[in-house]
Amino acid sequence: MPDRSSRRSTPGALRVPGLSSRRDFLKFAPLAAVAEGARARPGKPNIIFILADDIGYGDLSCYGAERVRTPNVDRIAREGIRFTDAHAPASVCTPTRYAALTGQYAWRNPAGDHILSGEAPLSIDPSTTTLASMLKRAGYRTGHVGKWHLGVGERSRSLDWNLEIRPGPLELGFDYAYYYPATNDRVPCVYVENHRVAGLTAGDPLAISYAKQLGNEPTGREHPEMLKLKLLAGHDGTIVNGISRIGFMSGGKPAWWDDERMADTLTAKAVEFIEEKRSAPFFLYFATSNIHQPRWPHPRFRGAGGCGTRCDSIAEFDSSVGAVLAALDRKGLTDNTLLVISSDNGPAMDDGYQSFDVRDANGHDCNGPWRGYKGSLYEGGHREPFLARWPGRIRAGSQSGELLCLVDLLATMAAAAGQKLSGNEGPDSFNLLPALLGQARRPVRDHLVLQGNGSGRLAVRRGPWKLILATKPGESPELYNLESDPGETRNAAEERPGVVAELSRILAHNMAQRRSRPQ
Ligand code: CA
Repeated sequence: MPDRSSRRSTPGALRVPGLSSRRDFLKFAPLAAVAEGARARPGKPNIIFILADDIGYGDLSCYGAERVRTPNVDRIAREGIRFTDAHAPASVCTPTRYAALTGQYAWRNPAGDHILSGEAPLSIDPSTTTLASMLKRAGYRTGHVGKWHLGVGERSRSLDWNLEIRPGPLELGFDYAYYYPATNDRVPCVYVENHRVAGLTAGDPLAISYAKQLGNEPTGREHPEMLKLKLLAGHDGTIVNGISRIGFMSGGKPAWWDDERMADTLTAKAVEFIEEKRSAPFFLYFATSNIHQPRWPHPRFRGAGGCGTRCDSIAEFDSSVGAVLAALDRKGLTDNTLLVISSDNGPAMDDGYQSFDVRDANGHDCNGPWRGYKGSLYEGGHREPFLARWPGRIRAGSQSGELLCLVDLLATMAAAAGQKLSGNEGPDSFNLLPALLGQARRPVRDHLVLQGNGSGRLAVRRGPWKLILATKPGESPELYNLESDPGETRNAAEERPGVVAELSRILAHNMAQRRSRPQ
């Protein structure tokens, strides 16, 4: 348990044995400084943000899944708070991650508002405040492990993967990074540690291309007989571990990842980071590869769930969460760590590969009661599991229907770390801490703007109402009342023109102001 009595004490109340005069104080000043540093730390919790890839609202047993058990995530629900109206800012990967790290809606920035290729330059300007740079400013040691998918390198020139890879996570405030640059279904299929591809050897340079085949590596298009996981569409480039990817890659073979060890490799790096000896608090952004396609969990998870490889991959994700929890327990860090778990967008079924999600579903509802999947503006595309634990601060076993979004993490973690955000930082990020702590007197957010697959696809949520805007001439807006019609089956736009007008006005205001959080 943290030393709560010392957290409540004030600097003036500091007691150093035998200290009775100003002269004694000066003599013991270095000791006093050390004691003060030690005393102050419990006020700044360690922070871990675990972001799953493509896990849906119905994929975890604490959200109703019955075909798979997720005991480690369920432990967070039992020891912390579980939210039922939490949203990814977008229904696809890159814009969600952009918004979660910057506290700015991704549709405001064309560089980060769409799914990026593995060749894309860094989508976040290094001068932008991120979760990492804000917490670094607060004295944290900051680390990123896992999926990045925000681009790396400069806009002005193409990247040589054999040299230093920058700008990337380290230029956005991370002290340490062990990541894969894009997604697990596209090249480059390698890990980057800080500024270098991990495991590259001299004389075997790595090259990637999204335009043309490189070298003699077989592709899924030309050699479907070599595939252990058959493809449905796209994903027909270079074959890596018997699975073909989007794009082409050659050379650098010792650095190529092994899909069935991916969760273990990344989890080990996350645990290493947690267990580092350090005097400062830490922030870890752990973005898992599970459960994005191609799903190829370690053999020990085969048959772990009752809905084919989807459930096996969910069980593998839960095991990674368990390893993080065990590391915190082992190191005595559990009580002074704010842990948040969520997912970047709604679920995808049979997405690009023959994974048989539909055939093997066995009644498993990956999107819970919601309509739609990854990429959709219906709830299934963006309503996510969201759990938080901070022992002694967040009430164990609590639940909340507060409307929240991953774009709120910047302001929330700033509040947890005692940092003030200046005017331009996190322009769309609201402090959720009162909601986490069960102290919110009124809703944290008045409304929320959501993005689909592409920045032209937007929806506005306020109270029970959600307006999905028309994107093309001839299309009609869709308005749903999520309280009376959670399945979004009855478009109420024609019968409630006043609500359509009001939500449209809110979006126009958001766009004109370039921010939604008041300064
Ligand atoms: Ca995703």
